[in-house]
Amino acid sequence: METDETYFLNSKKYIEEKIYNARIEIANINDSFLSAFVEHGNEIIQKASEKLSDATFTKNPTTRKIYHRTSLLYLDLLSQQIETLRLAEATRNDSRWKILEYFTSETAKQLGLNPMPIPIFGSTYYATGSFVYSSYRLDVTKHLYQVSVDINDSALFWPLLAHELVHCKLGQIDITNLEKKIKECRLIDETHQRRVKESLCDCIAARIFGPSFLLAFITMSWAFGPSAEEYPNQDFRIKLILETLRKSGWSVPREFTNIININEKLSEKEEIHPLFDNIIEMAIKSTTKNIDNSFLKFDLFSSASRTSLDVIFNAGWLEFIKDPEKIRDISEKIREYLERRAGSS
Ligand SMILES: [Zn+2]
Repeated sequence: METDETYFLNSKKYIEEKIYNARIEIANINDSFLSAFVEHGNEIIQKASEKLSDATFTKNPTTRKIYHRTSLLYLDLLSQQIETLRLAEATRNDSRWKILEYFTSETAKQLGLNPMPIPIFGSTYYATGSFVYSSYRLDVTKHLYQVSVDINDSALFWPLLAHELVHCKLGQIDITNLEKKIKECRLIDETHQRRVKESLCDCIAARIFGPSFLLAFITMSWAFGPSAEEYPNQDFRIKLILETLRKSGWSVPREFTNIININEKLSEKEEIHPLFDNIIEMAIKSTTKNIDNSFLKFDLFSSASRTSLDVIFNAGWLEFIKDPEKIRDISEKIREYLERRAGSS
């Protein structure tokens, strides 16, 4: 019993020190752009402290351990967010940062996502933030989102970031109907649920960015091997995105469909295939999007038109598919367009 008491006190000191250091980290952030991070950080520190003090009100060793573990979980997840924030701060010197910020905020607006996510030039596409705590059933009210693009990618591929932004939004979308259907189909595994979420992110991103999302996705992943377990198989994903585009009213020109090759049998083998229509229905219901097919006639290289983001990206992909050699010119045009828009916003 004595030993247990000593461990408890040592563990308490250890956690107190962690909280003290986390407070300093958060207090040192004084950029107004990062105010969402500061609010979030302070809330997590508060929660971690509460769990720590709860532990002192019980003598039950098991309960005390659980309180300490929960406190540490809050702090560990906060450390991960701080690590990502460091990367975000470091990459703000990138010459394309301003246009990435503009792209992120415009897309977040379309999704009704608040607060504005912190954009990062990272090693790949990913999203992190307060929804990570929810996956451990930890309660968070001050939301925070951080999203990364692959630093070496041309902006032509940025529609892929929309998928990551939808991950941030998912917690706020009512998917009760879809969850019912998942249960009905007995797809109750964690893996199945994750695949459904990934599919929803694909579908909503496709609604926002039109065929440019599909083309960016296919081009980026064409050379990959089989998908990781948390993703549906590639044929299913492509078929689902394509059908979402069509049901949403997006034109998918022949230049695009000609290069799309779906193995129907493989797509039907996907375990979540019974939910195919339900996922599309949910994606359409949960996003309002003004579908603009004027990209079909839009000349990317001719005018300084004030058109919407998706027209630029879809027109860019049409140019790329017609002549892949032009990738650098297309990227440059997109960059110019984004710079102009970011400057005037
Ligand atoms: Zn994803």
